Amino acid sequence: MPPQNFVILGGGISGLTAAWYLARNAPSSTKITLLEASDRFGGWIRSTRVGEERILFEQGPRTLRPSGLGAGVILDMAAKLNLTGFIHAVGKSEPAARNRYLYYPDHLVQLPGGNLLPGLKSVVQNKFILSSLYSVLREPFIKPFKNLDDESIHNFITRRFNSTLADTLISALVHGIYAGDVRKLSIKSTFKRIFDMEQIYGSVIKGTINSKNLPTLSQKDQSWLNSLCEENKDLFALMITTSLYSFANGIEQLVHAIVNDLEARENVTIKTSHHVKELKFGKDIEVYTNDMSFNADHIISTIPSHELANLLPELPYLTHNPSVTVAVVNIAYGRPNLLPVKGFGYLIPHITPNNPYHVLGVVFDSDAMPHQDYKKDKYTKLTIMMGGHYYNDLSENDYPNKDELLSQAIETIEKHLGIYSTPLQCMAQIHKKCIPQYYIGHYSRMRELHYAIKKKYGKRLSVGGASYFGVSINDCVANSARLALDLLGNDDEKAIITGLERVEVE
Ligand SMILES: Cc1cc2nc3c(=O)[nH]c(=O)nc-3n(C[C@H](O)[C@H](O)[C@H](O)COP(=O)(O)OP(=O)(O)OC[C@H]3O[C@@H](n4cnc5c(N)ncnc54)[C@H](O)[C@@H]3O)c2cc1C
Repeated sequence: MPPQNFVILGGGISGLTAAWYLARNAPSSTKITLLEASDRFGGWIRSTRVGEERILFEQGPRTLRPSGLGAGVILDMAAKLNLTGFIHAVGKSEPAARNRYLYYPDHLVQLPGGNLLPGLKSVVQNKFILSSLYSVLREPFIKPFKNLDDESIHNFITRRFNSTLADTLISALVHGIYAGDVRKLSIKSTFKRIFDMEQIYGSVIKGTINSKNLPTLSQKDQSWLNSLCEENKDLFALMITTSLYSFANGIEQLVHAIVNDLEARENVTIKTSHHVKELKFGKDIEVYTNDMSFNADHIISTIPSHELANLLPELPYLTHNPSVTVAVVNIAYGRPNLLPVKGFGYLIPHITPNNPYHVLGVVFDSDAMPHQDYKKDKYTKLTIMMGGHYYNDLSENDYPNKDELLSQAIETIEKHLGIYSTPLQCMAQIHKKCIPQYYIGHYSRMRELHYAIKKKYGKRLSVGGASYFGVSINDCVANSARLALDLLGNDDEKAIITGLERVEVE
């Protein structure tokens, strides 16, 4: 029989999704409690309106990808939470979808792919792009490393393509997703599909050509996604021409809608300011927060793994991976069209010289998500992201303060983009330990963790959240929804669902 009394740790998007899926699919007699340590729900998702103009600043995530299982789940949630009318979609033909840039070595370089002519010009003018393209042509002829357990993204790309590609485009991409170091992150845990292509087809390019035969989802998940598409045909049709999307009031609008829905349900209790301090596994599970205690027959932990390690120190590898700290500076100028180019923004590879403030990338928010402000087309909005793995050696007191971050960001924008105006509104934040880093060997470590949870906690503990298999909101949501459905659909008395099942199949 599925559990009857769930306690979910953490009220970020992973915890909220798990609670929502349980609430919709469990019998109404099932008790669901969600405990969040801070005074708000949403975790790293935070959309704030500032100043008289109520300009929208995203302090964490800002855009969602419209493809894959995670997108299917989010869009279905959006439909059921009456958010469809608030979806802001950016079309595939818009500049934000077509134009992406690198800053290397001392200027913006448009990446080929979106627009043919500027793309070709870039290839001709930039040796590193030409050399990367040449390495793509050569790759199918390079002997594969079969039965490779894992290696760094940098090693993999250098081995199959060349170090120029690893040091420029790929390192920049990794800054954009993980704020991480391409030389330390695991290829198998970050870009599993391309890792598999070498193992199965002997080459990434051959694998790409055959990608139709290489399913991205298990059969079970594919038929789930198909049924979500079938149920929300219009929404999925819109997504075919969409490059990325968000909501009218930012991504936090999704969080508010989930929270409101959960609060209206009698069998669900969700609480902020409840920091879980201790878990006692006896006949029942006792959960102690700073304030109260709760009973459960199943715990779903969606808190970062280093936090779970404080509660269950005997579980292996919860603290093995560090999480990087990222500085986020939002700036809005009181005039539109100040940018020298139109596009999503630019990323900065680790080999770009003269990057004293460790800038990872800059998002052109007024192009990337143009219609979220009440006054349309009045501002130029940017977000500058700094730090990440570059901050790894700093201690707590060494992080730049908010004023320093602002002046570093403004100086960067002057130098890179030639914008010398005074900002109308700005905001700076340091997000400590915000993105987990899947270091080499992560997959094998998760296998050990999976079996340790099975052995020690049997059917009473599952884990989810960004620490395990995917940091994007799409991944977090898909994993939590899958976990909730697996727990409820588990009629097999012996089956144990830890949330890490994929390590058994692959
Ligand atoms: C700056 C930034 C930009 C990003 N941009 C994007 C983007 O554009 N697109 C995208 O898809 N993804 C993006 N991401 C990634 C994505 O936002 C996160 O990976 C995702 O939100 C993580 O959600 P989560 O619920 O797993 O974890 P969290 O958001 O970390 O939530 C965990 C929650 O647990 C709580 N908690 C911790 N310890 C305890 C305890 N002991 N008891 C109770 N509660 C506890 C925390 O307070 C927190 O609210 C970005 C992330 C950052 C930081």
